Amino acid sequence: MTDGSPLVRVRDLRKYYGDGDSLLDRLLGRDAGSVKAVDGVSFDIDRGETLGLVGESGCGKSTTGETLLRLREATAGDVEFDGERVLGMDDAELKAFRRRAQIVFQDPFSSLDPRMTIGEILAEPLRIHGLPEDTGDGRSKAEYRRDRAKELLDRVGLSADQIDRYPHEFSGGQRQRIGIARALALEPDFIVLDEPVSALDVSVQAQVLNLLDDLQEEFGLTYLFIAHDLSVVRHICDRVAVMYLGNVVELGPTDDLFDDPQHPYTRALLESVPRAKLTEQGRRVEALAGDVPSPRNPPSGCRFRTRCPLVIPPAGIDVDQRTYREVMDLRERVEAADLNLAAIWDAVGDPDGSDKPAFKRHLREEFFADDLDGENENAVERALDALAEGDRDRAAETLRARFESVCETTRPVLQEREHPAACHLYDQPVESREGDEAEARVD
Ligand code: SF4
Repeated sequence: MTDGSPLVRVRDLRKYYGDGDSLLDRLLGRDAGSVKAVDGVSFDIDRGETLGLVGESGCGKSTTGETLLRLREATAGDVEFDGERVLGMDDAELKAFRRRAQIVFQDPFSSLDPRMTIGEILAEPLRIHGLPEDTGDGRSKAEYRRDRAKELLDRVGLSADQIDRYPHEFSGGQRQRIGIARALALEPDFIVLDEPVSALDVSVQAQVLNLLDDLQEEFGLTYLFIAHDLSVVRHICDRVAVMYLGNVVELGPTDDLFDDPQHPYTRALLESVPRAKLTEQGRRVEALAGDVPSPRNPPSGCRFRTRCPLVIPPAGIDVDQRTYREVMDLRERVEAADLNLAAIWDAVGDPDGSDKPAFKRHLREEFFADDLDGENENAVERALDALAEGDRDRAAETLRARFESVCETTRPVLQEREHPAACHLYDQPVESREGDEAEARVD
């Protein structure tokens, strides 16, 4: 199909890993729940385009790449490649698909078999696919494959004379060139580049990125470029999708995303990127605190709400943004039963638990930089009283009743536009909001 339709179309792709069915779990009748590595990801990749997929380690970006290639089986969703549904392909169709869709892995050493020569490594994809069917020029198939391996080495900037060497005889950058040559062997249309330069020195990274750029132009390749580092994707990607905890939270043309990041998570990621433009150097810093939550039990509503510096207070509550973040941090610790009340009593030198003012002062100092006032102060005070009395549920309910955010009750979705962001700071489609409220409740 060359009718202007995308080469790759991914819709609501999900990959969950169930881990409640181990022998111990079954014996104990325990449902440990599933790890939602990829949880409803959608995007298109146009022909000849490079789409970047970025996010912190563990956000699901590599699993997305491997699942859309069917190196892992999807839990749900749909993937189309050149108009064909990939997830429903039988073995023969899958083999044909794999000729056209390849992957380059991050670690060029472990992805190359150390017992094989480079010539064997590069000829292997051809052999597996029974190629060539007929050389047509009197060469044997083995000779053809060896010549093809030499061509590939030459094309990725290595010498054909190195064909009988082993992977350990090459540097990291050279090994990644071999990985790229292997991906090219079957003349694919599409390559998933899974952190292809992350393991390389900065100077070598630039060379490999230039090579990928040249190859794309020469062969009309389409790339999905996976990276944890936004600075790497800036120069090679046409568009960028930002992932957080199994979801795409923002997607847009690369320059738009860098010049006008929408999602608070994208803004936080950009803070770690050196600023090339003067206009960007005064950009406000919004520090990203806390750890990425477990994908086994992701937060309800917006997945980023436990770390978001801009989490939205309920309407009608007058509270400054930083204080609201502090209240939400306290709420999350209380709701997760992550506050060791006995340790706090010990810390205030009152293991018997009678000096409530000291206990509350300790918590205030731990969570709040400034004093609260009015009803906000009253609610926090009542919650701290409940904690001092050992009643976590009452503390959690007191805080929830006053401070519940739309960010926790309603899962934001990407809008239908060129540069969407899944965040309640921007307009949300009404139909999706209703559907996702139901989903947020069962999270
Ligand atoms: S929806 Fe709320 S918590 Fe999520 S990124 Fe937007 S403001 Fe932050």
